[in-house]
Amino acid sequence: MINGYDVEVKLLAVTPEAERLIESAGRLCWDTQDKTGTVPDRIQKWIEIGHESMVEHACATFYIRASRVLTHELVRHRLASYSQRSQRYVKESELRYIEPAEIKEWGESAHERFEEVMGACWEAYRDLLSKGIKPEIARYVLPNACETQIICTWNFREIRHIIKLRASKRALPEMRAVASEIRRIAKEIAPQVFEDL
Ligand SMILES: Cc1cc2nc3c(=O)[nH]c(=O)nc-3n(C[C@H](O)[C@H](O)[C@H](O)COP(=O)(O)OP(=O)(O)OC[C@H]3O[C@@H](n4cnc5c(N)ncnc54)[C@H](O)[C@@H]3O)c2cc1C
Repeated sequence: MINGYDVEVKLLAVTPEAERLIESAGRLCWDTQDKTGTVPDRIQKWIEIGHESMVEHACATFYIRASRVLTHELVRHRLASYSQRSQRYVKESELRYIEPAEIKEWGESAHERFEEVMGACWEAYRDLLSKGIKPEIARYVLPNACETQIICTWNFREIRHIIKLRASKRALPEMRAVASEIRRIAKEIAPQVFEDL
């Protein structure tokens, strides 16, 4: 549960010795390899002046479980590789959806109305499947709230960009929850790259 949202973010892979690789790429530009490791905020200083391309040499892969509302927005970030659970080839036989924290917080009547509609959507979906309609067609009755899973690979520069846009107060609350978790993980794996965010 993150910020009241039942979503999940897991780090699957990251470039080994990412900060060392980034620093060596930056130092190559100025031929200062002999100073490697001597300036603790070297990467942040490069980022500050907009010399950010070396940050692109490292990347991370995340598993995210969230709603289709979220993934629809997330995949707009183009400098990426994505693999998402298919609704064409996989039957959504279980009732799995993300209920916004705001609906639960509003009160019981909003929560009940939401659950009622989710149940009706899945009932219609199963009805259509039982008539022999393919999942790729039956899914048209499934809601945006439908839970999905996606694996995303981004370079560190794109992760910085996503955090700036998506952990902000202007972002969708579910997205903010996911982006905040990405930020927490990013700061753990490469503090020198993400400490300003
Ligand atoms: C608060 C918020 C509200 C939004 N509302 C809407 C909306 O109502 N409707 C809607 O359609 N979208 C909306 N979006 C999505 C937004 O327009 C972007 O599509 C999305 O945030 C992806 O980010 P991006 O385009 O910066 O770049 P990414 O794809 O993440 O790329 C990173 C950066 O690379 C550069 N870049 C990438 N591709 C190109 C290119 N082809 N040409 C030039 N530079 C490029 C840009 O500098 C870009 O910022 C919203 C986003 C936010 C955060």
